[in-house]
Amino acid sequence: MLPRLLAVVGGPGSRRGWRKGSPARGSASAAAAPPVALPAQAQVVVCGGGIMGTSVAYHLSKMGWKDVVLLEQGRLAAGSTRFCAGILSTARHLAIEQKMADYSNKLYHQLEQETGIQTGYTRTGSIFLAQTQDRLISLKRISSRLNVIGIPCEIVSPRRVAELHPLLNVHDLVGAMHVPEDAVVSSADVALALASAASQNGVQIYDRTSILHVMVKRGQVTGVETDKGQIQCQYFVNCAGQWAYELGLCSEEPVSIPLHACEHFYLLTRPWETPLPSSTPTVVDADGRIYIRNWQGGILSGGFEKNPKPIFTEGKNQLEIQNLQEDWDHFEPLLSSLLRRMPQLETLEIVKLVNCPETFTPDMRCIMGESPSVRGYFVLVGMNSAGLSFGGGAGKYLAEWMVHGYPSESVWELDLKRFGALQSSRTFLRHRVMEVMPLLYDLKVPRWDFQTGRQLRTSPLYDRLDAQGARWMEKHGFERPKYFVPPDKDLLALEQSKTFYKPDWFEIVESEVKCCKEAVCVIDMSSFTKFEITSTGDQALEILQYLFSNDLDVPVGHIVHTGMLNERGGYENDCSIARLSKRSFFMISPTDQQVHCWAWLKKYMPEDSNLILEDVTWKYTALNLIGPRAVDVLSELSYAPMTPDHFPSLFCKEMSVGYANGIRVMSMTHTGEPGFMLYIPIEYALHVYNEVMSVGQKYGIRNAGYYALRSLRIEKFFAFWGQDLNTLTTPLECGGESRVKLDKGVDFIGRDALLQQRQNGVYKRLTMFILDDHDTDLDLWPWWGEPIYRNGQYVGKTTSSAYGYTLERHVCLGFVHNFSEDAGEEQVVTADFINRGEYEIDIAGHRFQAKAKLYPVPSLLAHKRRKEDVELSDLHGK
Ligand SMILES: Cc1cc2nc3c(=O)[nH]c(=O)nc-3n(C[C@H](O)[C@H](O)[C@H](O)COP(=O)(O)OP(=O)(O)OC[C@H]3O[C@@H](n4cnc5c(N)ncnc54)[C@H](O)[C@@H]3O)c2cc1C
Repeated sequence: MLPRLLAVVGGPGSRRGWRKGSPARGSASAAAAPPVALPAQAQVVVCGGGIMGTSVAYHLSKMGWKDVVLLEQGRLAAGSTRFCAGILSTARHLAIEQKMADYSNKLYHQLEQETGIQTGYTRTGSIFLAQTQDRLISLKRISSRLNVIGIPCEIVSPRRVAELHPLLNVHDLVGAMHVPEDAVVSSADVALALASAASQNGVQIYDRTSILHVMVKRGQVTGVETDKGQIQCQYFVNCAGQWAYELGLCSEEPVSIPLHACEHFYLLTRPWETPLPSSTPTVVDADGRIYIRNWQGGILSGGFEKNPKPIFTEGKNQLEIQNLQEDWDHFEPLLSSLLRRMPQLETLEIVKLVNCPETFTPDMRCIMGESPSVRGYFVLVGMNSAGLSFGGGAGKYLAEWMVHGYPSESVWELDLKRFGALQSSRTFLRHRVMEVMPLLYDLKVPRWDFQTGRQLRTSPLYDRLDAQGARWMEKHGFERPKYFVPPDKDLLALEQSKTFYKPDWFEIVESEVKCCKEAVCVIDMSSFTKFEITSTGDQALEILQYLFSNDLDVPVGHIVHTGMLNERGGYENDCSIARLSKRSFFMISPTDQQVHCWAWLKKYMPEDSNLILEDVTWKYTALNLIGPRAVDVLSELSYAPMTPDHFPSLFCKEMSVGYANGIRVMSMTHTGEPGFMLYIPIEYALHVYNEVMSVGQKYGIRNAGYYALRSLRIEKFFAFWGQDLNTLTTPLECGGESRVKLDKGVDFIGRDALLQQRQNGVYKRLTMFILDDHDTDLDLWPWWGEPIYRNGQYVGKTTSSAYGYTLERHVCLGFVHNFSEDAGEEQVVTADFINRGEYEIDIAGHRFQAKAKLYPVPSLLAHKRRKEDVELSDLHGK
């Protein structure tokens, strides 16, 4: 039932310009050419002739990089790409994924015209069915986000579904989402077309050529060893699909690429008596776990079962043709679901059950970018069964990254550096992908957490906190408390509180927030990334002054909030650095910065044995004492005066707490509340915690979690990296001017861009929105990604939101742009532009009025800030 595919992948090259062992520029006459040796060197070697490898090669050559060699161990497009179901779907949860899929759609649409190769591109549209109200809400949320980026999309009734696809049983539906411009396409043909275009553009493509390992010298790719000889190269791109994990290990310096294959099934039928028209929409029935598309007048239907079958955990896949064994018993639940949705199928003959491995990643997102440890080693893998949909856009972003040094969009959510070696254990991956594959179709309510691969990294206090009712979430493998269930609450009910509306933990978090405001709470924040930078002379200060935007030449004991900017002035990291001594600094960064920040620092640090960078994350437990009585608790425990006169804000000192010595006490919180961070050598963690809790009793101390922290920080307009800030946000766009010292006498990275921006003005501004006519008990809650409207016009999206217990309103943070229709291009966003607008936030298609605020409400800033900060923030308020 795959005649066309088999035809095209069966004899690569005769019309397409590549040969076994021959360079790519040939035409039909090249068919007879004898195999030639591989080139001795190239600028780039791409591994893998699937959709990813060919897309990267295509885009590199379009961007002017011609000295590119693509190597494929078998035949082109004969990996997972060959068995792809061919569904191109733009309805994705993440904005960056929507953009990649939208670009792919446009690219594939014109590929046939560009290359003359038929790709089977047919605009069918997709219908996403909802069997429950919650599913419909989820679709409405996606729909409102798609429309604002120009992807047409509407919520439709079951009756309309029946009109669009008369064979569907719609009786159990409550609605659906229709995306009319989605398409189907032959994935293998798209890959062949991309390869052909790349080849015409100068890329040399060799099939039947295996890369055995990647050569690395002093942390830089130098070449590849293949079964046909070596090629020296500066850049290597791992697009090896399900083989990528193993290939990553076959580098002279291993590269961790956390992905794992699972078997993935779909069935093919003979055509209906009256064949389905080619324009028949694709159907996604996520509640039924299946997808259905037209296939040559019959249907193709697969799905994401509850009990997936991971495969090749030992890394032994040597197959060239990826069709594995049929397993009808395994497919039976999906088949039953399919028959319920399309009862007339009973009469149709099934031709075959296709079973091909596909790769899945620990967080359901694909993996791209440069290795943190080997320069010039790029990857584009782990597509979670959406490789066709992402292929065009992902290939473009990766090519931009290689050519320009960064992609044109922020791709942090997909960056290889969000992972470390800790996510690469085979057992972890095997267990996690068994959860990920069904999750692709599970309903994902806000704040869901992975259940597998847990308790990998824990604080020494984990058991103590767990026994006190901690509910946990995980970040970068680290367990972090969300909130603490009081003994009188029904734990089971709380575990089931999965909703788009007001969650069951509302009152619990409210009482934690209240305690932070009125008394004192302790939050275990041990997952923070902690680095120490020391030197024998001034090297540490010099490099930090170059890498960070704020002035770090401060007196010993001071803490500096600062951005680590890129050349465009965007945040690579937003962190706090304490000067421990003249030549030693302690740096605190977000949890998921552990790999990224390390790689960034290493990239710029000179090789100097007198300059030492150490990751001390595991050495310190971090406790946040937060609230007005924190000062009393700490004074009692240290016998030291801790009031602002003696211990000013943003000050750091090693002192004793209880019996324990050498606790790094910092007068700061991450929420704007008064309080202290304690960085405690792990062996003292339990002791200090017990002492804090014991002494804190009389001040009303209790445990609190990250949900309380989130509410507090959003209400105070504290932006967080990774949620509100990314590599495309500059300090001038988010009220971060106080973290920049343009005149500190060092030409730090990003300074020129900021000077330029200061002169030109900013094109987006982080703004705080307080929802006006929103009923917290009855209305859907905002979470993130909600469209923002100004005077009825779409101007941006929210980045994070929370219920503000002080304001008794929902608060969202988000960026406002000025897409002026008259000017035809984006305009500068001034404070006046923000202040003069009437705003609405769109939650799943319903717009709520909102008040915009540019800077934190001053009265909320309870703690005393340093004079220079106050002056600067006054400045940017103007
Ligand atoms: C059954 C099934 C249905 C799917 N349906 C859809 C769909 O409808 N829509 C969608 O968007 N996505 C779908 N997908 C996902 C999509 O097909 C994949 O994500 C995509 O094809 C992956 O492309 P790739 O280039 O990463 O991998 P592959 O196509 O597997 O390519 C990797 C290539 O690398 C080569 N290689 C590996 N190691 C080496 C080496 N050492 N030296 C040289 N070459 C090497 C391999 O031979 C292979 O050709 C489906 C996947 C499956 C399995």
